[in-house]
Parts: sequence; structure tokens; C-alpha cells
Amino acid sequence: MTKIMAVNAGSSSLKFQLLEMPEEKTITSGIVERIGMKKSVFSIKLNGDKLEETLDIKDHGVAVNILLNKLLELKIIASFDEILGVGHRVVHGGSKIAESIVLNEKEISYLESIVDLAPLHLGPNLTGIKAFKEVLPNVKHVGVFDTAFHHTMPEESFLYAVPWDWYERFQVRKYGFHGTSHKFVSDRCAEIMGKKPEEVNVIVCHIGNGASICAVKGGHSVDTSMGFTPLEGIPMGTRSGNVDPAVVEFMMTKKNKKAKEITNILNKQSGYLGVSGVSSDSRDLVAESAKGNHRAQLAIDVQAKRIADYIASYYVYMGGADAIVFTAGIGENAKSTRSNVINRVKALGVEIDEERNDCRGVERLISTDESKVKVYVIPTNEEVMIARDTLALL
Ligand code: AMP
Repeated sequence: MTKIMAVNAGSSSLKFQLLEMPEEKTITSGIVERIGMKKSVFSIKLNGDKLEETLDIKDHGVAVNILLNKLLELKIIASFDEILGVGHRVVHGGSKIAESIVLNEKEISYLESIVDLAPLHLGPNLTGIKAFKEVLPNVKHVGVFDTAFHHTMPEESFLYAVPWDWYERFQVRKYGFHGTSHKFVSDRCAEIMGKKPEEVNVIVCHIGNGASICAVKGGHSVDTSMGFTPLEGIPMGTRSGNVDPAVVEFMMTKKNKKAKEITNILNKQSGYLGVSGVSSDSRDLVAESAKGNHRAQLAIDVQAKRIADYIASYYVYMGGADAIVFTAGIGENAKSTRSNVINRVKALGVEIDEERNDCRGVERLISTDESKVKVYVIPTNEEVMIARDTLALL
């Protein structure tokens, strides 16, 4: 029996899941929130119950200690030695890291050298890694990178048509994100179809609060909608997705703001929230739209149109697709978004079966038997992917 901890550290939070491997069974999961603030919240799920505690947790090191001691106290583990590996979700691996790796000094130094590629996420990821390594020094720590799966993109997909020097000296290129999810879901899709990943072309639509589309050809990412940062691509909960870059300077002048402030607005006040003026949550938009709120429906449609644009483009780029898969919060739960998108790509011979589509959070084929491309809902599971890679490197 091998227990592996999958960890996702944010600036003030730390999500964890303890898994029994290789059975891929979740033993427990939880989250520490408001780290570094007053009244931090620690919650853990056990046998269907949720235990919650409010206490002051000053940093990630304290959070890790509290979490591990809780596992002992609740008798989930008898000693720390039972945890054979810790897999860390890391947002960015730069242009060098193409797969999951064991995190030793050298690897951590490299990650520190590229923090400015994703300062909001990579900094906190490193804080989490260091905190865990300090408390569990004899355990292998593995980094599983959001960008790694996209390393197979060809130059023509990942290069921007900007001065070469921007790419060579400053590493300005498309990296892509959500790679762990795109890989999990496309592998699973091949399995459901009774094929090997090499044998199928899949278009994965990871539509959550953050959202990206990925063209997976024969098991490899060949293009994806997020870019240098997660801001590129389709509109999301609060992110704009693609806009003409000239808008930045134009709005800086009109609003007398700095570039950083405009980028912040494109990241945090745009997308669903910006267009609807109501909410960044798809459930609110669906409810508002049902009441006749035009801008709420428009926010949904602007996104659906762009998702359809990417599907059509990736279909052509890959020379056809065997399946389109919906995953993540909205992809798994919002049947209206799924049919909105698929009805826009009917020209590809894709057809949705509304009865099959009437589902939430389950793995299911939702296209008609006649559809030329199969359409699936496949719940993503990044933690299992992290645990699989960690186990492989133990
Ligand atoms: P994620 O970032 O993957 O956790 O996804 C978050 C998004 O999923 C939010 O916009 C939620 O509104 C959306 N979501 C969750 N459940 C539902 C549901 N039943 N119907 C529509 N959207 C949902």
C-alpha cells in the first residue's frame, strides 16, 4: 500500500488530497484557506463528513504541520513514514521542463529563476514545496507541471510572430496551461473508446472558472488556447481571453491607468463578469438569462462562439477529430453550455443528443449515434494524475 499526497499551493491556500496508490482511491482531502490572515480555515473531508476548524495559520510551513498532525490525530495515518511521496502541482515549468520531475535543489533553483513568468502562482507553489520538504525531508517530492503536457506543441503553434529576440532572450512564447487535466481527460477518452492514446485525435474543452481548449493528436498536445499566460484564448469567468493588444494602450490613455492595472482588469473584471455585469459564475448567468437578462446570455454566447471557433480550427489542424470532450466545473455541469457549443459546430457533422446531454458530473457519451465525432463529458481529476506521476517517479 502506497500513500501519496497531491498538493496544490496557492498564495493563501493549500489544497491537498491523500490517495492510496495504485488503486487511485482518495483517503482524504481538504483545504487550508486564508493562510497568513486572521481566522484561517482548515477543512478536511473524511468518510463523507467535513470537519472544519478556524485558527490562525501564519504561513505555509505552519499549514503543512497542522495538516500532517491532523492526519495522525484522526488516525488517517499511523506515522509520517506512510506517506511515500508528495506530488506538487506547479503552474509553470518554463521552456525546459517537459514532464514531471523529482524536485531537488537544482530543479527548485531553476523554478526560482523563472518566477517572473507566473509570479502570482509560481511563487506560492514554491512556498508550498519548500514547506513540505522541510517537514518531510526524507520523502520524494515531485513537481507536476501545468505547462509540461504542451511541450509537444510544434514551433508553428507555440511561436508568436513577434521579434525573435523576444522569444530567444525573454522566453515570450505560448506555454499553455491545464496540461495535467488535458492529459488525464484525453487519455481517459481514448480508454473509453477502446483505443490507445496514439490512435485518436481529441479536442478537450476544459471549461471552468479558468478555461482552455486543447488539440490532442495521438496523445500529444499540438495546440492549446492559453498562451504566455492563462489570459489568452477563450473568455472565462473573469478573464477576457483574446483581445487586440492595441486595446491595452488605448484604455491606459482613456482611463489614465498603468499597463499593470489594465492587465489586472483583463484578468479579474472581464470575461463573464465584464460582459454580463452580474457575475463570474456560470450558474448565476444561466439563472439571470432565464429571467431575460440579455447581457447574461450574451456573456455565455460570446464564450460559446469562441469555444466553437477553437474546436473548428483544431479539427482542421489535426486533420479531423475522433472526439470532443467537455470537462471542469462548467464543462461537466452545464448542459446548456455544452449544447450551445456543439450546435455551433454542426458543420463538422457533430450532433448532440439532448437526452444524453441531460447529466451533471458523470462520464457519459452525449452525441447521437449518427454523429461523425463523438462528444463526451469526462470529469477531470488532476489529483489522480499528480499521484500517478509521483508514483512513477518513486
Ligand atoms: P472550476 O473552475 O472547474 O471549479 O469551475 C467553476 C465553474 O463551474 C463556475 O463558473 C461554476 O458556476 C460552474 N459550475 C459548477 N456547477 C455548475 C452547474 N451545476 N451548472 C453550471 N455551472 C456550474
